[in-house]
Amino acid sequence: MKIIEKKCPNCGGNLDFKVGERDVKCESCRRKFAVEYDADLSDLSEKAKEALKAADVSLRPIRRVFFVFFGIFFVIVATAIIISVVAMVNSRNEFNKKVEQSQQEFENTKQEMLESIDY
Ligand SMILES: [Zn+2]
Repeated sequence: MKIIEKKCPNCGGNLDFKVGERDVKCESCRRKFAVEYDADLSDLSEKAKEALKAADVSLRPIRRVFFVFFGIFFVIVATAIIISVVAMVNSRNEFNKKVEQSQQEFENTKQEMLESIDY
């Protein structure tokens, strides 16, 4: 904590006190004095609010980059999921079509064979 030196109004001796202390006792003449501050604590909290606001404003571009990055990330992930689902559905459809085709070919061949036996 910061220590500020001031002169005693009574004897001129040094008054040592820490910032925030409400009163101070002179070590030379033993008199007590109330400490008055130029800026009170409400002023300090106003300054703190201003500092927080300034920090918030300065963080805004970083936050924007963060959101853009995650937006791109989620779009990529969503696209990858959609592409893989579409690919899975397509390959299943193709597989079913091939199964149907080979079943049809089998039936055709069987029919041809049966017809050739008839002769
Ligand atoms: Zn004094």
